[in-house]
Amino acid sequence: MRIRVISEFKDREALGEVAEKLEEIYGEKSEIEVVEELIDKRFLNPLRNQYDAWRIVQHYRRFLNAGEYMLLVTDKDIYAGDLNFVFGLAWRGVAIISTCRLFPEFYGQPPDRRLFIERAVKEAVHEIGHLHGLTHCDDEKCVMKFSNSILDTDDKSCELCEKCSSKLRFSRF
Ligand SMILES: [Zn+2]
Ligand SMILES: [Zn+2]
Repeated sequence: MRIRVISEFKDREALGEVAEKLEEIYGEKSEIEVVEELIDKRFLNPLRNQYDAWRIVQHYRRFLNAGEYMLLVTDKDIYAGDLNFVFGLAWRGVAIISTCRLFPEFYGQPPDRRLFIERAVKEAVHEIGHLHGLTHCDDEKCVMKFSNSILDTDDKSCELCEKCSSKLRFSRF
């Protein structure tokens, strides 16, 4: 598989680090495409002023080519179903992550570029893990642990635990 990273978030350096980590963990080539606008107003829920992640991944799935996974990176705030927000979502070959709540500034903290990039890497590795069929993991440090809040994201590592790594290898044979 090939991972196509399509982003309206224009920080190439951060995207480059995300792509690099994805290649390292999944052993798949990843390519970055920066676009002007990934998500337009039709996906906006005006009542919550957030974008509907389910509708976005369903829409983009139509453009998925054989042999590839798609990772959409948006700077807009997203939600799914009853959850008041999500860091990301993955469904049948298409994943999305939002950078909106990964900035320390979102929580009233001073900017920290390292921390921001680390969070983006974790969320991307997590969602691509779902695309490979991995489910949520109980291991505290595993990147597949569910993040309910940014504290959970900060607590986990950007790596798969032993168990998840072996599931990943198994799913390929
Ligand atoms: Zn998840
Ligand atoms: Zn795990």
